[in-house]
Amino acid sequence: MLENLKQNDLVITSNKKIILKYLNDTKQLLNLKIMSLKEFVDNYFGYTNQKAIYYLIKKYHYKFDIAKVYLDNFLFIDSLYQELELNNLIIKTPLFKESISRIVVIDTFLDPYIAKEVEKYEHLYLNEETKNYIPAVKKLKTLEEEVNYVAISILKLLDKIDINKIFIVNLNQDYYIAIKRFFAMYNIPLNLAEKKKIYGTISVKLFLEELKNSKDLESALNKIEKDEIYNYIIDVCNKYQFTSIDDIVIYCIEEELKNTYLQDKKLVNAINIIDFDQMIDKDAYYFLLGFNEGICPLTFKDEDYLSDAKKTQNGILTSLEKNILEKQKVINKVSSFSNLIITYKQKQQSVDCYPSVLIEQLNLPIQTIENNEFSYSHIYNKLKLASLLDNFIKYNIIDPNLSLLYNNYQDLPYLAYDNKYHQIDVNLFRKFINSKLTLSYSSLDNFYHCSFRYYIANILKLDKYEETFMTFIGNLFHYILSLAFKEDFDFETSFQEFIKDKNFNAKEEHFISRLKIKLQEIIKIIKAQDQYSLLNKTLYEQKITVPIQSKIDVNFVGIIDKIKYDEIDNQKYIAVIDYKTGIPNVNINNLIYGLSMQLPIYLYLLKHVFKEDINIAGFYLQKIIHENISFQYGKDYDHEIEKLYYLDGFSNDNENILSKFDQTYTSSKFIKSLKMSSKGFYSYAKVLSNEQINKIISLVDEKINEAIKAIENAEFSINPKVIDNKNIGCEFCKFKDICYKKEEDMNNLKSVNYQDFLNDN
Ligand code: SF4
Repeated sequence: MLENLKQNDLVITSNKKIILKYLNDTKQLLNLKIMSLKEFVDNYFGYTNQKAIYYLIKKYHYKFDIAKVYLDNFLFIDSLYQELELNNLIIKTPLFKESISRIVVIDTFLDPYIAKEVEKYEHLYLNEETKNYIPAVKKLKTLEEEVNYVAISILKLLDKIDINKIFIVNLNQDYYIAIKRFFAMYNIPLNLAEKKKIYGTISVKLFLEELKNSKDLESALNKIEKDEIYNYIIDVCNKYQFTSIDDIVIYCIEEELKNTYLQDKKLVNAINIIDFDQMIDKDAYYFLLGFNEGICPLTFKDEDYLSDAKKTQNGILTSLEKNILEKQKVINKVSSFSNLIITYKQKQQSVDCYPSVLIEQLNLPIQTIENNEFSYSHIYNKLKLASLLDNFIKYNIIDPNLSLLYNNYQDLPYLAYDNKYHQIDVNLFRKFINSKLTLSYSSLDNFYHCSFRYYIANILKLDKYEETFMTFIGNLFHYILSLAFKEDFDFETSFQEFIKDKNFNAKEEHFISRLKIKLQEIIKIIKAQDQYSLLNKTLYEQKITVPIQSKIDVNFVGIIDKIKYDEIDNQKYIAVIDYKTGIPNVNINNLIYGLSMQLPIYLYLLKHVFKEDINIAGFYLQKIIHENISFQYGKDYDHEIEKLYYLDGFSNDNENILSKFDQTYTSSKFIKSLKMSSKGFYSYAKVLSNEQINKIISLVDEKINEAIKAIENAEFSINPKVIDNKNIGCEFCKFKDICYKKEEDMNNLKSVNYQDFLNDN
């Protein structure tokens, strides 16, 4: 039919390849304009771009998706068309119509309003010649059996046919998982062209966070790695170059990123998935799976923005007309290709599936296929055997293939579930993490509770962060306390700034108003506490990163709530404080097992920043949210409140060093239990010598390196720590349903007192 093409034709087709192949095969030099129907419509009638979306959102506050629906139909909404035209938002190709000499439409259904325009010119409709093949349709019990049959049929074909001449046609999404699984079992290379959303990746998250904060594209782009995703983000941003960055542009960019996909890399020699329109090679082999009702032919419903009634008025194909044309298209393909293998399933999971209406209409013979070929994949055979054993044990069903498979795979570990972690290939693991590792106190804490817990939470990242009201309150307190002691701090402005985008119910509002008063109370108390210290410099929310030499790139990162420091008589003094909204635990007995390491880790980080040259006065937790206390007769209420906010932790027993941080150390006015008598510190005062503090830092160093070594070697056994019969490792672990831990997995340990290992030489 393509021999009818002539010089200067405008060709409308969904398959440009067929034309190019024809011209190449026949060695013709024809000057053709080849377009898809969409390209023709855009050039002929005009189209809109991101400028129009921006305009509609700005003027009418539409949601992005709503604006897109209107713009998809702007040719048929008169008022919208006029408004867009008036604002120069319709892009037109002025000389396009003049350039048309003849229009050739190949195998494409036209809406009547387009056909009416096409027919104003010299035109030609070319449709593929149909033949009268009547292929047999293969009937299989389930979707999985259908896919298995297709995979084995392809394997047999591969002995005589080039893999690039075998295609799967019109594949429904329901088949993707099974196709991937079965083709992998049979080692059949496949281009599934799966699309992966980039929204939700770390790069997009960091980019959007920075863009929303800074409203600066360059600084947002600088936050992310220059990889494949970076290029996709650039492409989206380029669409909005016509205006400066504002909240609407940021919103549009975010919405576009939600619908931006990474394309799978295409294999050169593989089975490809194609549409009906791409079936052009009469010698190729085509597999049409899912020849079931509702899937093939596809059915359209009257549920678009423009109803069928409106479509009729505007000369657009109605759903009914599209269904007729779709059916005809399938009939043409089914009867025109001799190497077309059609299959359908009777069940998908437990749902009955009906065969396509075309089977009866075209009188296609049905061939029932039993899957009993077991010469192609051991993995498939073993899985099949396990499922046949299930049927036998549960329902007493004896499948004819059961004994054959059972006799061949007697070593099948059936019903022998093994919960053990089997070590991942180290090279594969390092590739997965890009040979980079970021550790923090919380990830290390997970690791030392149980290596498998760390693996799930920090490598597989299955521990989704969800903000609760309590985490919000914690963040609010940390935020305000990081600003409260700066010169230009205004409580009300900062408080409102933090809560401005949040919605609260009445109970939460009430709670927040009470906590607001508490927060002001703490600020006053902390200011008073600071008066007792000679360390006049303070850092808040200080991020410290320590690079560590290892087989992979490791960075240890920590954010310290408050560091008080100063230089006095050429000596540097420092104290570290972490705010706690929950119950503070300053116990360091389990440090030897890698637990309770938060404050010790901060000392380790500070030592790396300030090198050897610092005197650590102490390290403390400060509980910043308390229950109300009741008035007690004979006690000073204000003093009782102040005591609630006392620091809890360890102080240096060197009086010269400690006095720089707390001038009241002999009977401290802000450190819990810190008191002296003429004989020295009271026994309940938590004090440590310089040597002990240094020992803690060395211990942290040791524990960090021990963890890195295990992580870079992908050692993630299930090994929760049990100390004196108390299971500490599994406390608050969210992965109990995954690990199936057994008694033998427990890492049983004895409790230790920190004095023992800190005094130990
Ligand atoms: S429940 Fe216990 S054993 Fe299981 S992953 Fe969590 S910490 Fe490890």
